[in-house]
Amino acid sequence: MKKLTGIAVSPGVAFARAAVFNTDGQQMGISNCLPENVGQELELFQEALQTASQEIAACRDDVAQKLGDGYAAIFKGHLVLLQDPGLLKSVKDGIQNEFFTAEYAVYATLTSYAQAFQRIPNPYMAERANDILDLRKRLVRILQKGKQQIQSFDEPVVILSYDLTPSETASMDTAHVLAFATEIGGPSSHTAIVAEGLHIPAIVGVGPILKYVHVGDLVIVDGDNGILIIDPDEETKESYRELIQQRESLNLCLDLQRELPAVTLDGVEIELQGNIEFPYEAQVCRQNNASGVGLYRTEFLYLSGQHPNEDDHFEAYRKVIETMDGKPVTIRTVDLGADKLLERSKISPDVQDRDYFIESEKNPCLGLRSIRLSLKRADLFRKQLRAIFRAAYYGPVRILFPLVATLAEWRQARMIAEDVKEDLMDGNIPFNPNVPMGIMVEVPSTVLMLDRFAQEVDFFSIGTNDLTQYTLAVDRTNMDVFYLYNSCDPAILKLIEMTVQTANRFQKPVCLCGQLSGSPIYTTLLIGLGLRSMSLAPGAIPEVKRVCRHVLTSQCRKIAARVMKMENAAEIRNYLWVEHQRLFPDLDGDAF
Ligand code: PEP
Ligand code: MG
Repeated sequence: MKKLTGIAVSPGVAFARAAVFNTDGQQMGISNCLPENVGQELELFQEALQTASQEIAACRDDVAQKLGDGYAAIFKGHLVLLQDPGLLKSVKDGIQNEFFTAEYAVYATLTSYAQAFQRIPNPYMAERANDILDLRKRLVRILQKGKQQIQSFDEPVVILSYDLTPSETASMDTAHVLAFATEIGGPSSHTAIVAEGLHIPAIVGVGPILKYVHVGDLVIVDGDNGILIIDPDEETKESYRELIQQRESLNLCLDLQRELPAVTLDGVEIELQGNIEFPYEAQVCRQNNASGVGLYRTEFLYLSGQHPNEDDHFEAYRKVIETMDGKPVTIRTVDLGADKLLERSKISPDVQDRDYFIESEKNPCLGLRSIRLSLKRADLFRKQLRAIFRAAYYGPVRILFPLVATLAEWRQARMIAEDVKEDLMDGNIPFNPNVPMGIMVEVPSTVLMLDRFAQEVDFFSIGTNDLTQYTLAVDRTNMDVFYLYNSCDPAILKLIEMTVQTANRFQKPVCLCGQLSGSPIYTTLLIGLGLRSMSLAPGAIPEVKRVCRHVLTSQCRKIAARVMKMENAAEIRNYLWVEHQRLFPDLDGDAF
C-alpha cells in the first residue's frame, strides 16, 4: 500500500483500477508480461527500433534538404542513441529479467537515462536528456499503435496522470472515469474546476505518482482530504467504506433542506446561484434549488473539442435558459487563454477561421486571454454576442465580460455589443435588447477603479480565483507556489470588502463567483463582508445554504470584523474553521 497526498480539488471518494497516462500524455499499457511472452516482447522492441530508425532517417533527410546538414545533426544524434549498446541492453534486461512489456521497459529505461542526464548541471547534458525524452515518446507511440484515448473506457477507472488539461478533463467519459489524480497542478486551475463540474473526486499536485503505480492497480482517490492510496490494505478499504456511508448520511440530511430558502436567522435572503461549464449542469442547478446560473463559463464549448458556430452557441445557451425556467442565467463571454488553451491538434483542418487558437506565449496569464482575445478577434466575439442576445429572447439573461482590467476594455466590449444589437435589429432577427451587461472583478486595477466602472456597468461579479492570482502574483495552477495561493489572504479580503462597499454605494448588484464561495467555512465571513449573492459549484449549494440558515447577520459581521484584523491566511482559516465547528458541533471534520 502507498499513501500519497496532494491538493483536494473536487470532493468525494472513488475506488477503481488505475488507468495511467505518462508525462507525454500517452496512456500506458500493463507493465508486466507472462514469462512465455518475453520472446514476443523482445520482437516488438526490435520492430519498434526499426520503425523509429526509419522515421528518424526520413526526418533527417527532409530537414537536411530544406535547411542544410547542420540542422539535421539532431536526428543523427537520435539515431546514435537508438544504437547505444548500454541503453538497448537495459531495455532488453527489463523485458527478460523483470518480465516488463516492451512499452514499459522502454519508458522506464529511457526515463532513468534522461533523469541521470538532467542531474548533471550542464546545458549540453540537459539537451541530451531532451533527446532521450523525445526518443522515448516516439518509441512508446510506435509500440502503442493507436491505443484508446482518454475519453473512452470499457470499465470503471481512476485516471492517474502527470497532468491533464482542462480540455482533456472536459472530454472525459464520466460513465467510466470515476476520479482522477495528477502529479502537478494547483488549487484553482481550470482542470480542478472542471472536475467539480463533472462531479468526480479529484486531487492535483500529488507529486510523483507514476513511479509507484502500475496500470490496473486498485486505487482510492479521497477528494475530500486530498489523499491517493495505491493498492490499499483491507483495513484502509474498510475505513473508506465507512467514510462513504458518512457522506451518504450527510447528503441525506442536506437533501431534506434542498427546497428551503437560503435565509439567515434574522430573515436576510442570500442568493445562491450555480457555476456551470456545460449546459447539462443547469439541471444540477435545478436539483440543488439554485436561484439561477451565476456564472456560465462558455469557453468550455471550445474546450470540449467542438468548434462552435453561432447556432451551436445559441443552442447551448437556449438549453440552459430553458432548463432554468425563468431563473436568471449569467453568460460569461469566452475566457480562453492562460491554462484554458486550445491545442492546434484539436482544431479540424476544414475549419476556416481557426477561432480561438492561441500561439504559445511566454507569459500567458498576462497575455492574450479573456476579453483581450475577444476584442482582438471581434469577428468571433460578435458571433458569440449575437447568439447570447438571440437566446435571451427565451428567458432572463445577463452578459458578463471576463478579466476586464481597464475602462477602455469595458467600453469597447459594450460598444461591440450595441453594434451587434443593431445588426440583429436590421436583420429582423428575434432577440432581447435589454440584457444587463457586467464585468468580472478579478484584477486589482478594476477594484481600484470600481467607482468609475460602477457609473457604467449593470453589475459586478468577483472572481476570487484570478483576483488571488493577480494580487499575490502567484500562478493558480502551480503546485510549487501553492502555499502562497490563498483566497482568504487579508489582501484579497480587503479587495472583496472594497468591491462590495463601492457596489453597494452605487446600488449595483455584486456577486462572488470564485471558488471561495463554494467552501462553507467562508460563508459567515462573506455574509459579514456584506455579500448577499454568491455563485458556486451547484453541488456545494446545500452545504453553504445550511450555514446561511444557521446564522444571524450580526454574528457574521462580528466574525468578519475579527478576521479583518488578522494578518495572514493561515490564522484566518484556522479561526473560521473553529467557528464553523462551533456552529455545527455534530460535524465530522472530514465531511468538509
Ligand atoms: C475567477 O477567476 O474567480 C473566476 C470565477 O473565473 P475562472 O475561474 O473561470 O477564471
Ligand atoms: Mg477568472
